[in-house]
Amino acid sequence: MRWASFILAALFSWFPLPHHRLAVTRPAPLIKQVLTTKKVVALTFDDGPTANWTPKVLQVLKENHVKATFFVIGNQAVKRPALVKEEVDAKMEIGSHGYEHKILRHSSAEVVKQEAQQNEVLLTSLGVPKPTLYRLPAGASDSTALRVLGQMGYKVIGWSIDTRDWRRRYTAEDIAKQVENEASPGAIIIFHDGPNSSEATVDAVKQIIPALKTQGYQFDTVSQLLKLEKFAGR
Ligand SMILES: [Zn+2]
Repeated sequence: MRWASFILAALFSWFPLPHHRLAVTRPAPLIKQVLTTKKVVALTFDDGPTANWTPKVLQVLKENHVKATFFVIGNQAVKRPALVKEEVDAKMEIGSHGYEHKILRHSSAEVVKQEAQQNEVLLTSLGVPKPTLYRLPAGASDSTALRVLGQMGYKVIGWSIDTRDWRRRYTAEDIAKQVENEASPGAIIIFHDGPNSSEATVDAVKQIIPALKTQGYQFDTVSQLLKLEKFAGR
Protein backbone atom coordinates (compact mmCIF):
# COMPACT_ATOMS: atom_id res chain seq x y z
CA MET A 1 0.00 0.00 0.00
CA ARG A 2 2.77 2.39 0.88
CA TRP A 3 4.38 1.70 -2.46
CA ALA A 4 1.09 2.29 -4.22
CA SER A 5 0.58 5.72 -2.64
CA PHE A 6 4.21 6.61 -3.34
CA ILE A 7 3.75 5.79 -6.99
CA LEU A 8 0.48 7.70 -7.13
CA ALA A 9 2.04 10.75 -5.47
CA ALA A 10 4.96 10.63 -7.87
CA LEU A 11 2.63 10.36 -10.80
CA PHE A 12 0.51 13.32 -9.70
CA SER A 13 3.49 15.55 -9.03
CA TRP A 14 4.78 14.85 -12.49
CA PHE A 15 1.61 14.49 -14.55
CA PRO A 16 1.29 17.62 -16.71
CA LEU A 17 -2.46 17.57 -17.28
CA PRO A 18 -3.61 19.86 -14.42
CA HIS A 19 -1.30 22.66 -15.56
CA HIS A 20 -2.14 22.15 -19.13
CA ARG A 21 -5.85 22.26 -18.34
CA LEU A 22 -5.47 25.49 -16.41
CA ALA A 23 -3.65 27.09 -19.31
CA VAL A 24 -6.26 26.24 -21.93
CA THR A 25 -9.29 27.22 -19.86
CA ARG A 26 -7.93 30.64 -19.02
CA PRO A 27 -10.19 33.37 -20.45
CA ALA A 28 -8.70 35.53 -23.18
CA PRO A 29 -7.20 38.72 -21.78
CA LEU A 30 -9.02 41.87 -22.88
CA ILE A 31 -6.35 44.39 -23.80
CA LYS A 32 -7.15 48.04 -24.42
CA GLN A 33 -3.68 49.54 -24.11
CA VAL A 34 -0.22 48.10 -23.68
CA LEU A 35 1.59 49.06 -20.50
CA THR A 36 4.88 50.46 -21.67
CA THR A 37 6.82 53.68 -21.38
CA LYS A 38 8.16 53.40 -24.93
CA LYS A 39 6.57 55.82 -27.37
CA VAL A 40 5.00 53.26 -29.66
CA VAL A 41 1.35 53.08 -30.73
CA ALA A 42 -0.68 50.67 -32.86
CA LEU A 43 -3.01 51.74 -35.66
CA THR A 44 -5.83 49.23 -36.16
CA PHE A 45 -8.44 48.95 -38.90
CA ASP A 46 -11.71 47.01 -38.56
CA ASP A 47 -14.40 45.68 -40.89
CA GLY A 48 -12.43 45.29 -44.13
CA PRO A 49 -11.29 44.52 -46.62
CA THR A 50 -13.34 46.82 -48.86
CA ALA A 51 -12.54 47.83 -52.41
CA ASN A 52 -13.08 51.52 -51.63
CA TRP A 53 -10.97 52.00 -48.54
CA THR A 54 -8.51 49.17 -47.91
CA PRO A 55 -6.24 49.93 -50.90
CA LYS A 56 -6.12 53.63 -49.96
CA VAL A 57 -5.31 52.91 -46.31
CA LEU A 58 -2.64 50.41 -47.36
CA GLN A 59 -1.13 52.94 -49.73
CA VAL A 60 -0.76 55.55 -46.96
CA LEU A 61 0.75 53.00 -44.58
CA LYS A 62 3.21 51.74 -47.19
CA GLU A 63 4.29 55.23 -48.21
CA ASN A 64 5.06 56.00 -44.58
CA HIS A 65 6.67 52.62 -43.81
CA VAL A 66 4.16 52.00 -41.05
CA LYS A 67 2.98 48.53 -39.97
CA ALA A 68 -0.60 48.29 -38.75
CA THR A 69 -3.12 45.65 -37.73
CA PHE A 70 -6.22 44.81 -39.76
CA PHE A 71 -9.12 43.06 -38.00
CA VAL A 72 -10.64 41.33 -40.97
CA ILE A 73 -14.23 40.09 -41.38
CA GLY A 74 -14.44 36.70 -43.13
CA ASN A 75 -17.39 37.50 -45.34
CA GLN A 76 -15.57 40.58 -46.65
CA ALA A 77 -12.28 38.73 -47.10
CA VAL A 78 -13.90 35.91 -49.08
CA LYS A 79 -15.08 38.47 -51.65
CA ARG A 80 -11.70 40.20 -51.90
CA PRO A 81 -8.90 37.70 -51.31
CA ALA A 82 -6.46 39.79 -53.35
CA LEU A 83 -6.71 42.59 -50.79
CA VAL A 84 -6.01 40.18 -47.95
CA LYS A 85 -2.94 39.00 -49.85
CA GLU A 86 -1.88 42.61 -50.33
CA GLU A 87 -2.09 43.15 -46.56
CA VAL A 88 0.00 40.04 -45.91
CA ASP A 89 2.56 41.00 -48.57
CA ALA A 90 2.87 44.46 -47.00
CA LYS A 91 3.73 42.74 -43.65
CA MET A 92 0.63 44.03 -41.94
CA GLU A 93 -0.75 41.98 -39.08
CA ILE A 94 -4.12 40.34 -39.60
CA GLY A 95 -6.40 39.68 -36.67
CA SER A 96 -9.89 38.22 -36.65
CA HIS A 97 -13.08 40.27 -36.48
CA GLY A 98 -15.26 37.17 -36.87
CA TYR A 99 -16.67 35.59 -40.02
CA GLU A 100 -19.98 37.43 -39.97
CA HIS A 101 -19.20 40.30 -37.60
CA LYS A 102 -21.49 38.71 -35.02
CA ILE A 103 -21.97 40.47 -31.71
CA LEU A 104 -20.74 37.79 -29.31
CA ARG A 105 -22.09 39.15 -26.05
CA HIS A 106 -24.90 36.82 -24.89
CA SER A 107 -23.97 34.24 -27.50
CA SER A 108 -23.59 30.54 -26.71
CA ALA A 109 -20.14 28.95 -26.59
CA GLU A 110 -20.97 27.11 -29.84
CA VAL A 111 -21.79 30.34 -31.68
CA VAL A 112 -18.61 32.05 -30.44
CA LYS A 113 -16.52 29.07 -31.49
CA GLN A 114 -18.12 28.78 -34.91
CA GLU A 115 -17.80 32.50 -35.65
CA ALA A 116 -14.10 32.47 -34.75
CA GLN A 117 -13.29 29.12 -36.32
CA GLN A 118 -14.97 29.83 -39.64
CA ASN A 119 -12.88 32.99 -40.00
CA GLU A 120 -9.72 31.12 -39.00
CA VAL A 121 -10.32 28.48 -41.68
CA LEU A 122 -10.96 31.11 -44.32
CA LEU A 123 -8.02 33.34 -43.43
CA THR A 124 -5.52 30.48 -43.28
CA SER A 125 -6.82 29.23 -46.64
CA LEU A 126 -5.94 32.68 -48.01
CA GLY A 127 -2.35 32.38 -46.77
CA VAL A 128 -2.77 34.40 -43.57
CA PRO A 129 -0.91 33.04 -40.51
CA LYS A 130 -3.42 31.68 -37.98
CA PRO A 131 -4.66 34.82 -36.22
CA THR A 132 -3.87 35.19 -32.51
CA LEU A 133 -5.76 38.44 -31.97
CA TYR A 134 -9.53 38.87 -31.96
CA ARG A 135 -11.44 42.11 -31.95
CA LEU A 136 -15.01 41.72 -30.79
CA PRO A 137 -17.56 43.55 -32.95
CA ALA A 138 -18.83 46.62 -31.08
CA GLY A 139 -16.32 45.70 -28.37
CA ALA A 140 -19.11 43.61 -26.85
CA SER A 141 -17.71 40.89 -24.62
CA ASP A 142 -18.91 38.60 -21.88
CA SER A 143 -17.38 35.77 -19.88
CA THR A 144 -18.46 33.06 -22.36
CA ALA A 145 -16.90 34.87 -25.33
CA LEU A 146 -13.64 35.49 -23.44
CA ARG A 147 -13.49 31.91 -22.18
CA VAL A 148 -14.04 30.34 -25.60
CA LEU A 149 -11.66 32.73 -27.37
CA GLY A 150 -9.09 32.06 -24.64
CA GLN A 151 -9.44 28.32 -25.20
CA MET A 152 -8.84 28.93 -28.89
CA GLY A 153 -5.62 30.78 -28.08
CA TYR A 154 -6.79 34.33 -28.76
CA LYS A 155 -6.00 37.60 -27.09
CA VAL A 156 -8.94 40.00 -27.32
CA ILE A 157 -7.91 43.47 -28.40
CA GLY A 158 -9.95 46.53 -27.51
CA TRP A 159 -8.76 50.09 -27.95
CA SER A 160 -7.69 53.13 -25.93
CA ILE A 161 -8.42 55.75 -28.61
CA ASP A 162 -11.75 55.51 -30.43
CA THR A 163 -11.83 57.72 -33.54
CA ARG A 164 -15.50 56.85 -34.24
CA ASP A 165 -14.59 57.38 -37.90
CA TRP A 166 -17.35 54.97 -39.01
CA ARG A 167 -19.99 57.49 -37.96
CA ARG A 168 -18.88 59.73 -40.83
CA ARG A 169 -19.52 62.75 -38.65
CA TYR A 170 -15.96 63.93 -38.17
CA THR A 171 -13.54 65.52 -40.59
CA ALA A 172 -10.03 64.18 -41.07
CA GLU A 173 -8.79 67.19 -39.10
CA ASP A 174 -11.12 66.41 -36.18
CA ILE A 175 -9.92 62.81 -36.08
CA ALA A 176 -6.26 63.74 -36.42
CA LYS A 177 -6.49 66.35 -33.67
CA GLN A 178 -8.20 63.87 -31.32
CA VAL A 179 -5.53 61.22 -31.86
CA GLU A 180 -2.68 63.72 -31.48
CA ASN A 181 -4.19 64.93 -28.18
CA GLU A 182 -4.93 61.49 -26.75
CA ALA A 183 -1.78 59.65 -27.88
CA SER A 184 0.23 57.98 -25.13
CA PRO A 185 2.78 55.13 -25.04
CA GLY A 186 1.14 51.77 -25.81
CA ALA A 187 -2.07 53.29 -27.21
CA ILE A 188 -4.23 51.16 -29.47
CA ILE A 189 -6.11 53.33 -31.95
CA ILE A 190 -9.21 52.11 -33.77
CA PHE A 191 -10.16 53.09 -37.33
CA HIS A 192 -12.29 51.33 -39.92
CA ASP A 193 -11.66 50.32 -43.53
CA GLY A 194 -15.14 48.82 -43.83
CA PRO A 195 -18.30 49.78 -45.74
CA ASN A 196 -19.01 52.72 -43.39
CA SER A 197 -15.60 54.31 -43.79
CA SER A 198 -14.89 57.45 -45.78
CA GLU A 199 -12.11 59.56 -47.19
CA ALA A 200 -11.82 61.15 -43.72
CA THR A 201 -10.24 57.94 -42.38
CA VAL A 202 -7.61 57.88 -45.11
CA ASP A 203 -6.82 61.59 -44.77
CA ALA A 204 -6.73 61.39 -40.98
CA VAL A 205 -4.16 58.58 -41.10
CA LYS A 206 -2.15 60.64 -43.59
CA GLN A 207 -2.02 63.49 -41.05
CA ILE A 208 -1.59 61.43 -37.89
CA ILE A 209 1.53 59.53 -38.95
CA PRO A 210 3.82 62.53 -39.47
CA ALA A 211 2.28 64.42 -36.52
CA LEU A 212 2.92 61.59 -34.06
CA LYS A 213 6.37 60.94 -35.51
CA THR A 214 7.16 64.58 -34.71
CA GLN A 215 6.05 63.89 -31.12
CA GLY A 216 8.60 61.05 -31.05
CA TYR A 217 6.19 58.15 -31.61
CA GLN A 218 6.80 55.00 -33.61
CA PHE A 219 4.13 52.70 -35.03
CA ASP A 220 3.91 48.94 -34.88
CA THR A 221 1.48 46.05 -35.05
CA VAL A 222 -0.48 45.09 -31.94
CA SER A 223 1.54 41.88 -31.51
CA GLN A 224 4.82 43.78 -31.61
CA LEU A 225 3.42 46.35 -29.19
CA LEU A 226 2.46 43.55 -26.81
CA LYS A 227 6.10 42.47 -26.66
CA LEU A 228 6.85 45.78 -24.92
CA GLU A 229 4.34 44.99 -22.17
CA LYS A 230 5.83 45.76 -18.75
CA PHE A 231 4.06 42.88 -17.06
CA ALA A 232 4.63 39.82 -19.16
CA GLY A 233 2.25 36.92 -19.31
CA ARG A 234 -0.97 38.18 -20.81
ZN1 LIG B 1 -16.59 45.94 -36.64
